[in-house]
Amino acid sequence: MAADPLIAELLAIVGPEGVLSSPAELSVYASDGNPLWRALPRAVVLPREHGEVEQVMATLFRHGVPVVARGAGTGLSGGALPVPGGVIVGMNRMNRVLAIDPDNRRALVESGVINAQLSAAARAWGLEFAPDPSSQAACTVGGNVAENSGGAHCLKYGVTSQHILALEVVQADGRALWLGSPHRETPGLDLRGLFVGSEGTMGVCTRLWVRLIPLRASVETVLAMFDRVEDASEAVSGVIASGVLPAALEMMDQLAIAAVERGTHPVGFPADLGAVLLLEVDGGEEQCAEDTADILAQLQRRRPRAVVRADRPAQRELWWQNRKTAFGSMGRIAPAYYVQDGVIPRTALVDVLRRVTRVGEGAGLRIANVFHAGDGNLHPLILFDPRTPGSVERVLSAGTEVLAACVEAGGAISGEHGIGVEKREEMRFMFSEQDLALMDRVRLAMDPTGRMNPGKLLPTPGRCIDRPGLEAPAAPGS
Ligand SMILES: Cc1cc2nc3c(=O)[nH]c(=O)nc-3n(C[C@H](O)[C@H](O)[C@H](O)COP(=O)(O)OP(=O)(O)OC[C@H]3O[C@@H](n4cnc5c(N)ncnc54)[C@H](O)[C@@H]3O)c2cc1C
Repeated sequence: MAADPLIAELLAIVGPEGVLSSPAELSVYASDGNPLWRALPRAVVLPREHGEVEQVMATLFRHGVPVVARGAGTGLSGGALPVPGGVIVGMNRMNRVLAIDPDNRRALVESGVINAQLSAAARAWGLEFAPDPSSQAACTVGGNVAENSGGAHCLKYGVTSQHILALEVVQADGRALWLGSPHRETPGLDLRGLFVGSEGTMGVCTRLWVRLIPLRASVETVLAMFDRVEDASEAVSGVIASGVLPAALEMMDQLAIAAVERGTHPVGFPADLGAVLLLEVDGGEEQCAEDTADILAQLQRRRPRAVVRADRPAQRELWWQNRKTAFGSMGRIAPAYYVQDGVIPRTALVDVLRRVTRVGEGAGLRIANVFHAGDGNLHPLILFDPRTPGSVERVLSAGTEVLAACVEAGGAISGEHGIGVEKREEMRFMFSEQDLALMDRVRLAMDPTGRMNPGKLLPTPGRCIDRPGLEAPAAPGS
């Protein structure tokens, strides 16, 4: 019998395998993919089906306990960070594909299903789930929804929001409702759209209807290598301005290339290369050939050192593995990295990348760049050694400077990793107090108790709207 009455009640709902409460078990949930913020939850609950989530949420409501929903914990902005005294509702055991409806190109899934497993299941019907974050082997569709995640191929196919038809959400008090519809357009306020990207602040998504797209008939993949990052950046603008919309347009700079070449999937890039572009076009065979010819012409205008077309699937696969393991490869060249996620107009790439380099030089830190260049979605990876006193503070301040540069260039403070706890204060770079107060009121309309993921997404409570009784998550390193 558990000493804590809350734990006893949770055990009665989900059984002994569904509640974690020992310090060792809880430590696994102390952070998400951003290790700079850490905190222990009071408990972790792992429901197996929708009805259990309703009961768990009703119980947490009665006890007045804050709730943090969690998928795979790959988020990079501290969204799934535990909050003081709060309980984590982990969705990993709700990981089934419940139905695939090939005629209507849609699927019903539980929110804890892993992104790549959904596409793997749909492939048998010649379909796939378009959003493809680089973390897709681990991250959940529920996490994709909460962050409105992107991915390499979202340049052409759009981010998660465009692929979600309807969501079943358990609210803070344990009541469930469907937002959107699997069948048709829904008139009235777009509550489905409101939930997507709300970072766990409006309820726990348990099941959802997603759109599936047909597998691509024909694909052409091209690698373009440049001596100078400036030429690669101009090539990005040139390709998009030409009217071709590649399925993906990714870029890595010299430091990133050094890391991936020491990683698990080296391509054999020369060590002195300034930048690499990875481009992909898809569609019907004729269209694909035409788009590829246009792209090759654009690339040749920007003085590439070499341009190579993948001539077999294994080569294409290697190039993508190389790109998708780039973050992990940073461990080969530095003890730790901190990734930022800013958006800029594509035409500002050259200037902003120069500014990022200057920020790194000013802080005495190396910064590698691996990013979705076609969307202007930068991912500067700030390399550091956490054992060096003061390094975390320097890294955070450099990250803030990079975001300020993005906003000054006409961009935004997040393209896909969300705001979480990490960038809540930087929301002020983009939004007025009036904007933020309105967002907080909308959030409170969905969760009047303010117990869903408090202290995330919006600036610290109290500075925006007074919300007594809610503590903000701890500062980094605590
Ligand atoms: C190596 C690496 C590469 C990455 N590449 C990309 C990329 O290319 N594109 C991209 O967009 N992101 C990327 N990410 C970030 C991350 O993988 C995505 O944000 C992902 O969607 C998070 O999913 P998750 O299941 O891990 O969510 P978590 O980290 O567990 O949670 C993220 C947020 O969602 C909320 N949440 C989770 N599940 C639910 C639910 N069922 N109901 C309500 N709220 C919920 C949480 O409260 C939290 O606020 C990358 C991360 C890593 C580590």
